[in-house]
Amino acid sequence: MECIFCAIAAHNKEAEIVFERNEVLVIKDIHPKAPIHLLVIPKKHIASADAICEEDRSLIAEVILVARDAAQNAGLGGYKLVLNVGREGGQIIDHLHLHVLGGWDRAPGAVAV
Ligand code: 5GP
Ligand code: ZN
Repeated sequence: MECIFCAIAAHNKEAEIVFERNEVLVIKDIHPKAPIHLLVIPKKHIASADAICEEDRSLIAEVILVARDAAQNAGLGGYKLVLNVGREGGQIIDHLHLHVLGGWDRAPGAVAV
């Protein structure tokens, strides 16, 4: 079965891309769970945090740094970074991605996750 995030990374599937650097891209979540909900996705297919290997160290650091930059660019003073791992951890898409969630102060009453 085709991986949705690999398809988005290859520009074969539409997504609202807010940032793209060599190895990583940031898209808006299609079903946002916060006023601002971004997904930071390494272009390399890594199934989950459980599948990270030694050679991915710098890529994972890049994912976190891009998440920070994306949050700052979105004007977030604080935010949550969420990494769901495996079905029991709430992971639905089997391509590693870091959720950036925030902006509740802009939408009082919005539900936090
Ligand atoms: P997970 O539960 O795997 O950590 O999170 C997957 C996230 O991807 C969910 O928040 C879901 O709304 C989002 N998502 C699923 N399919 C698509 C898609 O085709 N495009 C975008 N932009 N987000 C998606
Ligand atoms: Zn993939």
